[in-house]
Amino acid sequence: MTVATATLTKVPNFINGQWIDSGASEWIDVTNPATGEVIAQTPLCSAAEVNAAVEAAAAAFPEWRRTPPQDRIQPLFKLKQLLEDHVDDLGRILTQENGKTLTEAKAELRRAIENVEVACGIPMMMQGYNLEDVTPGVDEMQIRQPLGVVAAIVPFNFPAMVSYWFLPYAIACGNTFILKPSERVPLSMHRAFELLEKTGLPKGVVNLVNGGKEVVDALCDHPQVRAISFVGSTPVARHVYTRSAASGKRMQCQGGAKNHVIVLPDADMELATQIISDSAFGCAGQRCLAVSVAVTIGEAQETFRDSIAHAASSIRVGNGLDAGIQMGPVITRESKQRIESLISAGVGEGAKPILDGRNTKIPKYESGNFVTPTILDGLPSNSQLANTEIFGPVLSLVHANSIDEAMEFLRRSPYGNQASLFTTSGSAARKFRYEAPAGNIGINIGVAAPMAYFPFSGWKESFFGILHGQGRDAVEFFTESKIVVERWSRQETRKF
Ligand code: NAD
Repeated sequence: MTVATATLTKVPNFINGQWIDSGASEWIDVTNPATGEVIAQTPLCSAAEVNAAVEAAAAAFPEWRRTPPQDRIQPLFKLKQLLEDHVDDLGRILTQENGKTLTEAKAELRRAIENVEVACGIPMMMQGYNLEDVTPGVDEMQIRQPLGVVAAIVPFNFPAMVSYWFLPYAIACGNTFILKPSERVPLSMHRAFELLEKTGLPKGVVNLVNGGKEVVDALCDHPQVRAISFVGSTPVARHVYTRSAASGKRMQCQGGAKNHVIVLPDADMELATQIISDSAFGCAGQRCLAVSVAVTIGEAQETFRDSIAHAASSIRVGNGLDAGIQMGPVITRESKQRIESLISAGVGEGAKPILDGRNTKIPKYESGNFVTPTILDGLPSNSQLANTEIFGPVLSLVHANSIDEAMEFLRRSPYGNQASLFTTSGSAARKFRYEAPAGNIGINIGVAAPMAYFPFSGWKESFFGILHGQGRDAVEFFTESKIVVERWSRQETRKF
């Protein structure tokens, strides 16, 4: 199997409207997680290469911010059409570099496109407000202006979608933009930038710099970068948040997760099982909104345990490009080892593996990083694993006697990305929505992913900052508010 951009071995940067080969001395292999085949190499770029991108973006900013919003969104309309036209080849690239199934890859691209569509509304969304005669003859208004050069640093699990939580809003608001993709999956955004190149955006408005920690730290430290959007694990989110604060940037840093679902005995058990199975094992559990702990109440314990074990064991695991495959591999060999050792740790802490995905080999893909769906029953609530993000296809089952007891699991969790409840009771649903300490809430929903016109929330150690990605939050994040108080009419006010 070859990538759609078959000749691409060394991934270049895109700076000032040009593809530029990196002068990096270190490169890392990009491996197809299903086959183990090396499909490209990512340069670990230097601070000097970051500086070149910042200078290009800074030079493009004055003219771009003066371009009327109506004109700034025209390239986004073209981008939407280009993305629509290339869903198939982009989807294949995503599957080859990330491992998710082609269906999942295309669903991810739909979410990316949705964000482009919403950002096309910037001429409305960016408007301020005003009030006449705050005192006779004096008017006051709030206007929104772009920040300048902004940057986004994104993770491996949704390389296309997460980049689009930021890119379209940032540039539509009049900023110029630098993207740092995950070094493990640089190919889909490389292809997306080839499409961006065709939209007629002026040079320097969007830039792409590949790499790892050195690029991230250089972006955090650069005095001309005004804002950073980060999505990744909690330790790195915290690092980016604190390091960027030193140079006075505004930040939105989304971190890791450990998401709970509570299953009440009155739930529609068939629906709950199917949806929770999709949530826990879709994208091989490598979703920040994946459910990873199911808390059953009362007699839901037995019924749900039996039905989820049946559903999970019937998931077809393999290469995401093959027909009928429902779950792909995890991202790297190290990730597979880490997930397997966390399963072992859970078993060591007293959980019973009623489905065990360790040491999986998929015929024809023996070099792939496969872990099949795993269910750990009876994980003790005080175990270390109960609050550790696994980021793999592992669902832990715990039991509680009441919804209040179940909520304790959520309160004790350091994370607050998502919490879900399955029930047919309106009052239980309202109580849950009211009390659950998480930023994205699902009622009979397994992956409570907000549409692009709502912000992607996240609480506790799942988010550092105030304004989230997507929707109105994105517009506020990528603009500065200015208050103007004006007096023009001398007759209506005091005489001078
Ligand atoms: P990661 O933290 O390893 O990497 C994220 C980005 O940070 C990458 O671009 C990477 O190059 C960079 N990076 C990695 N280590 C760094 C370091 N020491 N210093 C500076 N930069 C560094 O995350 P990942 O493994 O790519 O993605 C998975 C994680 O992302 C999971 O924890 C998942 O929950 C989280 N995630 C969260 C959300 C959310 O919305 N909250 C969404 C998607 C993924």
